[in-house]
Amino acid sequence: MSRKVEDIKKVGVVGAGTMGSGIAQVVASSGREVVLIDVSGAALERGVKGIESSLGRLVKKETISEEESKSIISRISKTTGFGDLKDVDLIIEAVFEDMGVKKDIYKKLDEAVAPDVVLATNTSSLPIVEIAVGTKRADKVVGMHFFNPAPVMKLVEIIKALTTSDETLQFAYDFAVALGKDPVKTIDHPGFIVNRILVPMLNEAVFAYSDGVGTPEDIDKAMKLGTNQPIGPLALIDLIGLDVTINIMDVFYEEFQDPKYRAAPLLRQMVRAGWLGRKTGKGFFQY
Ligand code: NAD
Repeated sequence: MSRKVEDIKKVGVVGAGTMGSGIAQVVASSGREVVLIDVSGAALERGVKGIESSLGRLVKKETISEEESKSIISRISKTTGFGDLKDVDLIIEAVFEDMGVKKDIYKKLDEAVAPDVVLATNTSSLPIVEIAVGTKRADKVVGMHFFNPAPVMKLVEIIKALTTSDETLQFAYDFAVALGKDPVKTIDHPGFIVNRILVPMLNEAVFAYSDGVGTPEDIDKAMKLGTNQPIGPLALIDLIGLDVTINIMDVFYEEFQDPKYRAAPLLRQMVRAGWLGRKTGKGFFQY
């Protein structure tokens, strides 16, 4: 038997990077305690600073009060020791997207937390079943794929691996709802729902540009005005990172063994040139 959503009072969030800190903010804002754990003390400091400035913006906009912001922060404790996870009711993991790193962590988590605790991974592209079978509770490992920035984005994809029990899946879904999110259920297939459809579309925009269909400005303008998207596909690739976009296409290509997921050659050339998008100041646009 898994725990019930109403019994979840303390959540271990593993990894204090972009996603982990955002998820910690969401969980603490729901009134629950958070134990935020990272291998790096500096990452923990950065993560909590990020949460403080995110909450600071909400105070400025009068979405929450100064007192609320303080009490959210007070519910988050930082640690680098797995021993501090011993009394958590749920784990949400958001460490580096690397199977070796994740497997090592799940071994430690399996030892550190009670056997009925669900382990949820925020992975974007790794097979969850492979993470699950490395634990003694494969039925209690599930995907909870939050979107960036986690405090803002309503969607969470709740992912069933082959080994995930229906009870665990429903628990993760209900927990996402309890956090104020609007989740969907899906299965452990590359890209789940959103990235499966979105990333090949972005890749197609690069093919269109290489074919001379339009300038980057016109391709983005056409997609924004013609399909009511808030951002054009090439600007979105610049935001995500050209390297990250290629990695996702390569995972699809490898996993599906289907040439329709071939990354646009121009994308690979631009990555080789060091034009990774916003983070390097140049991608399809200049920053
Ligand atoms: P990030 O690089 O910002 O943060 C990863 C954190 O993990 C770092 O702080 C690092 O110190 C920590 N870490 C590494 N090894 C660890 C260990 N052994 N124990 C504890 N902490 C450890 O990464 P991110 O962008 O937050 O991504 C985290 C996960 O979320 C990945 O699985 C990624 O696929 C997924 N994800 C990312 C996004 C996004 O837009 N960035 C969106 C959805 C899902």
